Amino acid sequence: MLCLGIESTAHTFGVGIVALKKGKCVVLANEKDLFRTEKGGFIPAEVAKHHVEVCDVILKRALEKANVNMRDIDLISYSQSPGIGTTLEVGCNVAKSIALIFRKPLVGVNHCIAHLEIGRALCKAKDPVLLYASGANTQVIAYEGKKYRIFGETLDGGIGNYLDKFAREIGLGFPGGPKIEQLALQGKKFISLPYSVKGMDVSFGGIFTNLKQKYDTKKFTTEDLCFSLQETVFAMLIEVAERAMAHTGKKELLLGGGVACNKRLQEMATLMCKERGAKAYWPEQQFLVDNGAMIAWLGILSFKAGNRLEIKDADTNPYLRTDQIIVNWR
Ligand code: AMP
Ligand code: MG
Repeated sequence: MLCLGIESTAHTFGVGIVALKKGKCVVLANEKDLFRTEKGGFIPAEVAKHHVEVCDVILKRALEKANVNMRDIDLISYSQSPGIGTTLEVGCNVAKSIALIFRKPLVGVNHCIAHLEIGRALCKAKDPVLLYASGANTQVIAYEGKKYRIFGETLDGGIGNYLDKFAREIGLGFPGGPKIEQLALQGKKFISLPYSVKGMDVSFGGIFTNLKQKYDTKKFTTEDLCFSLQETVFAMLIEVAERAMAHTGKKELLLGGGVACNKRLQEMATLMCKERGAKAYWPEQQFLVDNGAMIAWLGILSFKAGNRLEIKDADTNPYLRTDQIIVNWR
């Protein structure tokens, strides 16, 4: 079975083509284009325009890369929730159009769960706790009783958005996370920042306000601030992830989301797991960031469990939460 998956929840327009071969996930193509700026952040209407502009090129590139044509595709899948309304709509409309024109079955999937399922498929983790740290989302998710339950999450925004916002304020452009990571490597001194874990949840707003105040005093180097920022916020994430592992008794931690590309976060995850006799996993970078392959893979799982959408019912839901989905494929 061959599925073509479309990702458009935020800054990335992606098309992945995935095959189910002998029960395994085989990625044939994973093409994407990321909306970028030199300076400043992103405006939803502009990002949607970007997706409209690149969608045909990315679709064509994915088919070429996979060496298939639309006739070979058995299923179309798209990111249905959660995300930015304007950009979700672009992916949904592309998916509906090709499903209609080429008479293919259609499924809509949840983006956060797709991060978890692609990690399970491509890493050896069978039943992990997922630390999902991306632009818009920060959640600790694990499977219990037919649902992916949220054990902890951000009380304000996603960690990546805060990293990007700070980077924007100090003139680094978007995306900011990788630039902060590079600067942090040259940091020498730890500067104390607020540490905000509330039960199983985290919040970032106060930390970033404090960070910007410190930056404005010009008493600290940008490198030291970036280093201290990473040490602080990643320790918070690892703390709640560890507590979720202790609570559920699970022995695997899976990282997902663009922020999980960060080497320091990966190192902290490995250390924490080692100390408790568990193991940390993360797929390669192209599957950590938003991508179409994970949408295609979850499309296959969902379709095989009997889920499908009529074109008239194919909508988007920017606010649907991970734990509202019944997981009937596990
Ligand atoms: P996603 O929303 O999952 O596609 O991830 C995008 C987010 O990941 C953006 O906020 C980026 O700044 C962030 N990001 C990407 N690479 C890194 C990195 N190496 N370190 C920290 N954040 C990163
Ligand atoms: Mg994501």
